[in-house]
Amino acid sequence: MTTYSLMSGGEKLVTADTFSVINPSTMVTVGESPKASIEDLNSIIKEARKAFTSWSTTPYEKRQQYINQIADTLETHSQELASIITQEQGKPIGAPLGSMFEMGGAVAWTRFTASLELPVKVLQDDENGHIELHRRPIGVVASITPWNWPVMIAIWHIIPAVLAGNTVVCKPSPYTPLSTLRMIELINRVLPKGVVNSIAGGDELGAAISDHIGIDKIVFTGSTDTGKKIMSSSSKSLKNLTLELGGNDAGIVLGDCNPDEIVPGLFWGAFINNGQTCAAMKRLYVHRSIYKEICDSLTAFAKSVKMGDGFADGAELGPIQNKMQFNIVNQLVKTSIQQGGEVLLGGPLDSEESLFFPVTFIAVEKNDNALVQHEQFGPALPIIPFDTVEEAILLANDNSAGLGGSVWSNDKQAAAKIAGQMECGTVWINKHGAIQPNAPFGGIKSSGLGVEFGEEGLLANTTIQCIFS
Ligand code: NAD
Repeated sequence: MTTYSLMSGGEKLVTADTFSVINPSTMVTVGESPKASIEDLNSIIKEARKAFTSWSTTPYEKRQQYINQIADTLETHSQELASIITQEQGKPIGAPLGSMFEMGGAVAWTRFTASLELPVKVLQDDENGHIELHRRPIGVVASITPWNWPVMIAIWHIIPAVLAGNTVVCKPSPYTPLSTLRMIELINRVLPKGVVNSIAGGDELGAAISDHIGIDKIVFTGSTDTGKKIMSSSSKSLKNLTLELGGNDAGIVLGDCNPDEIVPGLFWGAFINNGQTCAAMKRLYVHRSIYKEICDSLTAFAKSVKMGDGFADGAELGPIQNKMQFNIVNQLVKTSIQQGGEVLLGGPLDSEESLFFPVTFIAVEKNDNALVQHEQFGPALPIIPFDTVEEAILLANDNSAGLGGSVWSNDKQAAAKIAGQMECGTVWINKHGAIQPNAPFGGIKSSGLGVEFGEEGLLANTTIQCIFS
């Protein structure tokens, strides 16, 4: 079995303790992850602080070159990392939205971010004075990641932080630490010692990071509940925060849509990575005039999609990644049915022997249904009819989450008008969940604070210093 290590100051750090990581498709152990102690955390943060002095003064163009070398390294090792992702996360390796796709995203984000500039802005230059606005790195950035897209999300955190001159301590989810640990080992072949460090352990390690005075900023992707805890404990040392939290994205389908044209997009908008994606469509509102047609077409389409072990030929969907999440999805589906939801496909399971959960559609009339109000983060979609556009907008906004949303119509102007009234950070028209490295992404309401990606995402890893002369 491969040995995985933490990276601290450019060296492998051996921990006294380890924990097993399970393949959710087979329930067999994939490997042992190091389990860091508080002493390990202290010494890793010390290394990151030490490296900050020289990294923060390394010329920006030189840092861009390093980032491009990281992209090359990730590309060379894509197959190896994708294989680890499939083993520990479950998503199929070769599927259009599987783990090779995740690696493609990691490479693309790294290369695009390397091309961004951080120019000095001249705010004033006249007889009264000269004022320059400089962007400075913040210090040591902690990256805390979830289990759904482990490598890609870690890259989203690490690359802009490092490009801006910060050093990083990255803590992956205890469900999927191995691909991130290996990736950070590879990154350390490129970068100077201590610029990117890794740490692994349980949730309590995340809490210790957010409490630690040696950390200056936290970039966190995960649940809203954990985000609130991080915000609370970070307040002690007033850390800078970027929080990418839970979503409950609504899709609104207007009556002028042709079901055959939009059903593949609706399906993959909701079921990308088995619904275990922050910006997946999690509630589908359909105009009553085409409600039955859409439900029937979605059901037929879903039956053509193969679910299975991520290494099996043709598998497009894998299992739910862990038992905790499986139980959340199963219970929400059961409650939804008790509250009047009607099963169109799939349905709850009584046995928890495997983590494969069938693609499930539930026809729901009321917006206060549990499967509508709560983020399922799994392969179960409530489909709700509406009669007027005004009603659809009210229903979509009747939720504490505000990550993404979509509008589906042949009338792009009408769709854009509705988009402007949706309370969320991103709205897609005739698609759902597409993200790009040049477009800032982040949630409003309880879906988070701040943005990642693009120039705005890079700036979030800096502080402003104005120089008057
Ligand atoms: P989670 O909040 O349980 O865990 C995320 C990370 O936080 C893990 O590394 C975990 O160990 C750590 N953690 C747990 N308790 C902590 C604490 N008290 N202090 C600091 N760190 C702590 O989330 P999850 O179950 O891994 O991920 C699923 C959630 O993530 C969903 O709600 C999903 O919508 C959200 N998510 C959001 C985005 C986005 O960009 N907005 C992207 C992916 C996932």
